[in-house]
This record gives sequence, C-alpha cells and structure tokens, in this order.
Amino acid sequence: MEITILGAGAMGCRFGAALHDAGHNVQLVDPWAEHVAAIESQGGLRVDFDDGPRLVDLRASLPASSSGSPDLIVVFGKAMQTADLIASAQHLISESTVILTLQNGLGNIEAIAAFVENSDNVVAGVTTLASELLGPGRIQALGNGVTHVMQSSGGRDIATRIVQEAFAGSPISVGVSPDVHSMIWRKVAFNAVLNTLCTLMSCPVSALRAYPEFWTVADAVIDEIAAVGAAEGVEIDGDDVRKTILEATDPEMSGHHLPSMLQDFLNNRTTEIEHLNGEIVRRGDSHRVPTPTNALIRHLIRMAEATRSQRIDALPQ
Ligand code: NAD
Repeated sequence: MEITILGAGAMGCRFGAALHDAGHNVQLVDPWAEHVAAIESQGGLRVDFDDGPRLVDLRASLPASSSGSPDLIVVFGKAMQTADLIASAQHLISESTVILTLQNGLGNIEAIAAFVENSDNVVAGVTTLASELLGPGRIQALGNGVTHVMQSSGGRDIATRIVQEAFAGSPISVGVSPDVHSMIWRKVAFNAVLNTLCTLMSCPVSALRAYPEFWTVADAVIDEIAAVGAAEGVEIDGDDVRKTILEATDPEMSGHHLPSMLQDFLNNRTTEIEHLNGEIVRRGDSHRVPTPTNALIRHLIRMAEATRSQRIDALPQ
C-alpha cells in the first residue's frame, strides 16, 4: 500500500517504521522542518527498538512538498494539530483515501471528517503502544500494546480491509472492535485524570497515590465525563477507567511514567487539554450536563501554561 503518516512525531514515526517493515511504501509528512531535515540527511529514521537501534529507510517531507495519492493516511499529530495537518495535506486526499486516527482526545474524528467526502473512509481507534521522540529524526519505541479500530460511521468493512491489508505482517497487532467509541472516551477519562493532575503536581503517575483523597478528585472527573458521554450516546464504564488508573499508578507497573501532557508542559509545548477536559466542558455545556471539576482542571492547566515562563521551582538564593 501507499501510506502517508501525517504528523510524524513519536507515534507517527513508530507506526511509519512498522508499516515500512511490513513492506508498504511509507512517507512521513510533518511540519517540523528540523525533524524532516534530520530524517533526510541521515538517510532514514533512527529507531531505538527493544533489541537495539536501527536506521529505518523512510523518507520525510513538509506538508507543502508532499505528493502522491496514498491508499491510507495515518494522522498522528497532537489533537490540537489535527485540523491544520489535514488542511495542509488536502492535496493527498482522493475519494478512495482512507484516513486513520489513533490520536488521544476528542475532536480528531470531526476535524478529519470535514475534509472527507465519504465518512466511511474515516477509521478511528485507540492504541496502548507508546513511543518517545528523542530528538529530530530519532524515536524510541516503547513496549508492546494493542490497537483497536472501527469506522467512525459505525461500519466495519473498510476498517477490516485496512487491518488486513496494512497491518497484517506488521509488528503492530490491530483488531476491529465495535467498542472503539467507548474506548476513545475511556482513554479521554483516563488522561483527563492522570495527565492533568501529574502536570499540575509535576510528578510521575505513582506519586498521585500519596494523596489519600486522590479518588475524590478522580471520581468527580470520571463521573462528569461518563454523564457527557451518556448525553452523546456513548456508554462509559467508570469502573473500567478506575481499574486502568489503579493499574497505571501502581509503582510496580508503569507507575514512574511521566504522562505526555507533563512532558509537553516541561518542554514548553502546548498541551492537549482543550481536547480532553476542555472538550468535555464544551460538550457538557451543549447538553446542559454540569462539568465543574473538568472546568476547574482545564482552567488550572491553562493557567499553568500561561504562567509557565515565571514558574518558581526553588526559593531565590
Ligand atoms: P509528538 O509530540 O511526539 O509529536 C507530535 C507533533 O509535534 C510532531 O508531529 C511534530 O510536528 C511536533 N513536534 C514534536 N516535537 C517538536 C519540537 N521539539 N519542535 C517542534 N515541533 C515538534 O506526539 P505523539 O507523542 O506522537 O502523540 C501523537 C498523538 O498520539 C497524540 O494525540 C497523543 O496523545 C497520542 N498518543 C501518544 C502516545 C505516546 O506514547 N507518545 C501513546 C498513545 C497515544
């Protein structure tokens, strides 16, 4: 297949490398010029796999210089980049192009659908794979995980074809699941708790357990999200979210992990807050579902971003 990875950060590069290794013709497209230049000058993407580093023979280009008529576009920027990314790559989209998003947050499907004639061609999903951007042209593939996809319209024939034709033979295990919308919302709830609180407290996920009333805050966030989801016809199992949070904050499991929002915050980058708690608040308002805890957390993250340049981490000497 001809495949374009649109938004080739940590995850886009990981999927790009896997799809290349499965024998597809993959191009990486990204607006970060230094990253694109590094991939070009070193003759590929450097990936640190579990079994050691390797240069993967991939080419990269800026959106304006990208060309071709890909069968599949995998959108993998941060959620706040999605609308701009897809607009910048309109020239790659034909009637038959399938567009897959595995990004976190709400609003990605809608941003993509605005540029696609046939909504069946938008496939969405969630992945528990992880990856880290080590610098321009270089990523680290982290652990293993599972990926579930589904057509955003509810059908499954195109999603099934993509799984069979694109991912069969790749090191990434992907399945078609009718539960994808609920999974996306459950992941939103998970991130709306852990990513935000770790960013505000500047701590790894396991540290949150030190506060005895952690669940008072977490439950309020989750219950509000479940109520907004219900108003949109999506059933969210709050207990399932709580179980995943419990596992993730276990120091013996992935407890020392620094969530991506905290990493973005510390790297002076905009966070995905508006597509997590922020989008919950907006959707809650439109359904008249109260979301005071999510609204407060959204404000606190926005305030932390606005005051970041004057943040004090130690008393002046
Ligand atoms: P990322 O931050 O690595 O890259 C996203 C984009 O940010 C890149 O395409 C690039 O254009 C830009 N960028 C990154 N670093 C930059 C820099 N130093 N200067 C200028 N531009 C820069 O994003 P990601 O981690 O691949 O996440 C993509 C989506 O996948 C998000 O929705 C995320 O929440 C989700 N996700 C991430 C992981 C993970 O482990 N990283 C896991 C699951 C889901």
